[in-house]
Amino acid sequence: MKLSIQDLDLNGKRVFIRVDFNVPLANGGQEITSDKRIRASLPTIQYALDHGAGVVLASHLGRPKGKPNAEMSMAPVAAKLAELLGKPVALAPDCIGPAVVAMLPAPGEVLLLENLRFHAEEEANDPAFSAELAKLCDIYVNDAFGSAHRAHASTVGMIQFVGKGAAGLLMDLELKYLGKATTNPDRPCVALIGGAKVSDKIEMIENLSKVVDKLLIGGAMAYTFLRAQGLPTGKSLVEEDKIELAKSLLASKGDKLMLPVDHVVASEFKAGAENETVTEIPEGKMALDIGPKTIEAYAAVIKSSKTVIWNGPMGVFEMPPFDVGTVSLAKAVADSGAISVVGGGDSEKAIKSAGVTSRITHVSTGGGASLEFLSGIELPGVAALTDK
Ligand code: AMP
Repeated sequence: MKLSIQDLDLNGKRVFIRVDFNVPLANGGQEITSDKRIRASLPTIQYALDHGAGVVLASHLGRPKGKPNAEMSMAPVAAKLAELLGKPVALAPDCIGPAVVAMLPAPGEVLLLENLRFHAEEEANDPAFSAELAKLCDIYVNDAFGSAHRAHASTVGMIQFVGKGAAGLLMDLELKYLGKATTNPDRPCVALIGGAKVSDKIEMIENLSKVVDKLLIGGAMAYTFLRAQGLPTGKSLVEEDKIELAKSLLASKGDKLMLPVDHVVASEFKAGAENETVTEIPEGKMALDIGPKTIEAYAAVIKSSKTVIWNGPMGVFEMPPFDVGTVSLAKAVADSGAISVVGGGDSEKAIKSAGVTSRITHVSTGGGASLEFLSGIELPGVAALTDK
């Protein structure tokens, strides 16, 4: 277990919280198109304020490549955060240096640092830069699960200079749900894995197959497995160089793996393309979604499970009608009553378009970070936190 912000006495202390405020921006960086990431850290920020801390917040935003860039300034984030917290949020002109030190917050106040990635030293995990960041606080808290797979100054380097590192409330939740699902899940436990490429998810399949009772494969990656079984795949996406790997996974984990038994195929890759459902993919056609028999079989497994882990869509869900498999299974997951843990990115969009987000137990805020976590890779930003 990692030290949590809830284990610490924050009263009168200055608390540095590494948040993930890497929000999508429009209008040359003036407008925030989704404030979801800001909202996700509000409980931690409010907790620190309620417990008597002065709060210093830090995040990266976009890819400024180590140089100040007005289009990636934290200014709109400071304004939005002030609105959400209902109190002033000061914006520092930089993230280190005397001008920042002069603005450090008293208990009950909030200071947002300027974009960490305006300094190349952040991504380089530079020790001198880490030490400068550490000077801004008494206590270090990481709430940026979405950045925990990166070993940067603000996620790893500065912790040794502060002395200790604790998880924020959002980080706590991520570790709790992803941790339990991948080590000690309520059983039966099923993983639903889809998406474009086997190569992106091999480590996840291997890692999850050690713990889950069943692994349901969908999306384009299913066709590399079908080819490995010697079945026809037409023009479907197949990773030729991963067929041998798929064969060895089928040989070692075949008892747990389930593959699609029918497919929605089309001649063209476009929304609304003329399509048909088949059990064998004809030459010249590409499979763009799982078919109704597969949906039924997968939904039955999901229904009888106590834990569902989901990462990746079952078909080209951005292009109706090839969203049916993904949306149907999103509903099946929500209806199952199981503990459901959904990885970020496309799976999150899919449950949103199915209208079931509120009935999912935990939707991870980290795309890349949750993929690595589910793959059994230790996240540097988590490893660097203090054990308790
Ligand atoms: P990933 O980022 O690996 O989870 O992959 C998500 C992408 O896989 C989405 O953009 C889907 O459209 C795509 N995808 C899922 N199923 C298929 C399929 N049968 N053929 C082509 N692309 C697919």
